[in-house]
Amino acid sequence: MIPVGGTGSGRFRSLPVRLTVEDTVRLPISLLKRVGLLNVSAPRASVVIGTDDPEGEEPREVHLSTDLSAGGDLSVRLEYFVPTTTGPHRITEVVGLFTSGMWRGGNRWWFRCPSCERRVGVIFLPPGQQYFVCRTCHDLDYACRQGPRRRRKAGLRLGQD
Ligand SMILES: [Zn+2]
Repeated sequence: MIPVGGTGSGRFRSLPVRLTVEDTVRLPISLLKRVGLLNVSAPRASVVIGTDDPEGEEPREVHLSTDLSAGGDLSVRLEYFVPTTTGPHRITEVVGLFTSGMWRGGNRWWFRCPSCERRVGVIFLPPGQQYFVCRTCHDLDYACRQGPRRRRKAGLRLGQD
């Protein structure tokens, strides 16, 4: 387990989501809903996803917590580490959330992509990248169409490959 601060308050759960340096971390809005992070009446829950990898790769975890601003906007704070040549580097990213309808009543939730600001249902953290953004901004469709996964050169060097 990688220690990350700020998880002492609220609920705390671990989910068996496999995250390795070889795999893109996929964070769907449905996961936030499932673990209660989208409950606007008590949004300050805290959740950890991730596992220690049995192959001995870098263990990866993402700590999730949601906050309601004074203006009534809900956002999710993502805290995690990315590998660098000088060791794990801590990243804190805040992603805006909104619904396509009214606040209460089971409406659909979306992330606001931090890069293009479109509403998206899933955000991604591919290997070698530092931030969660949408599929389009990470150019992930390419890998789906072309077969072999393209390794992105930009960003941080990974220990494995
Ligand atoms: Zn985007």
